[in-house]
Amino acid sequence: MIKLFVTSTYSKKEVFTSVDPDLVVYNCNELVTMNSKYGAPRLYGDMSKLAIINDGAVAIKDDRIIFIGTTDELISKFEFGKISIKIDATNKLVTPGFIDPHTHIIFDGTRENELSMKLEGKTYIDILKAGGGILKTVHKTRQAPLEKLVENGKKILDRMMLYGTTTVETKSGYGLTTESEIKQLRAIKILNKQHPLDIIPTFLGAHTIPPEYKDKSDDYVRLIISEMIPKIAKENLAEYCDVFCEEGIFTRKQTKKVLKTAIRYGLKPQIHIDEIVDTNGALLASEIKAIQTGHLLKSNDEGLKAMAETGVIATLLPGTPFCLMLDDYAPARKMIELGIPIALATDLNPNCWTESMQMIIALACYHMKLSPAEALTAATINSACAVQRQDEIGSLEIGKKADLIVFDVPNHQFLPYHFGVNLALKVIKNGKIVVDNDFST
Ligand SMILES: [Zn+2]
Repeated sequence: MIKLFVTSTYSKKEVFTSVDPDLVVYNCNELVTMNSKYGAPRLYGDMSKLAIINDGAVAIKDDRIIFIGTTDELISKFEFGKISIKIDATNKLVTPGFIDPHTHIIFDGTRENELSMKLEGKTYIDILKAGGGILKTVHKTRQAPLEKLVENGKKILDRMMLYGTTTVETKSGYGLTTESEIKQLRAIKILNKQHPLDIIPTFLGAHTIPPEYKDKSDDYVRLIISEMIPKIAKENLAEYCDVFCEEGIFTRKQTKKVLKTAIRYGLKPQIHIDEIVDTNGALLASEIKAIQTGHLLKSNDEGLKAMAETGVIATLLPGTPFCLMLDDYAPARKMIELGIPIALATDLNPNCWTESMQMIIALACYHMKLSPAEALTAATINSACAVQRQDEIGSLEIGKKADLIVFDVPNHQFLPYHFGVNLALKVIKNGKIVVDNDFST
């Protein structure tokens, strides 16, 4: 076997592979490579630079990309007739697979009735008093056996994949007891083994105050610190630890305590901040050196500037204000001007249920005024950075994982333009075709 030594520009990892690819995608009208020299998130005007190859081609061997270039270069380099799987992407857009870096997919119990209540003007507190809201999800998730949580999660992951997501971060946080938080994280571990998608697990025991700790939130924080984190770290069930820092939920002081303990146990910090009110969460995120933060609808300028300086990634979740029928969205344009790295995620949870990163890209354009190119950057290379996987995924480069999407549209501007439908024609994960929506052949 002939060996080819390929060095990815920034992973510096040598990939040993035979010369002959087993899958190629060619004739791509637009091949969006997102080629990024330094493995860092794209900032400012670089968010619009997609490194597009027209009439592009990708060659894949096993789970890796072994060639990127034009179709002519592909044909001159390889024996085209010998390649077993060839995808003709004439008049199609090809991009890296989406990375959804902030979700809550492990739960039981749906809350579809709450939309009518919201439309009737019922408040969050009214819904909670009527037995709904997050505590309903907690109640149902605690009761659900592990197998049920795995089954529910699988259904969501299958649909995410249909819409082009190839890597997803997901959190616990609907158990709120040591046992049921661990049950959620075990469900994630099982799914990560069984499902084609790669799943990154996050412990979110500090999601809300459980009913039995009402008015005793410090006691609950003590349980998280002294029992949950040590057990979860010992069983190696989570890579990240997240906290919902918000007025009436967890204070800045409690958030710091939880995250400092998590860091000591080897978990990496994330925070939900400034969703409903400004608790100076952005400043806290940069003090604690969080890898990524979610929401940031109300963050103040001082905090945002601190985030830009420390490089904390702002993961924007426009599905949430959309479902809550709010007028306010995160100030994405201001963040880009300040030099904050921006990623996009679905925030899929029982109150904001979409598997579709295509939908999120559309919301980011229509409600946060991102350009189609910026939104695509935020959903690929920048969201790979939000889960620290930029050496492996997020762009199409030699040596990286072969995770890509073939869209039934001619260019990237179509993604938010033709909204509300699934434009993904084929999804390739780890070099294998996992979704084929092409009914024309
Ligand atoms: Zn969330």
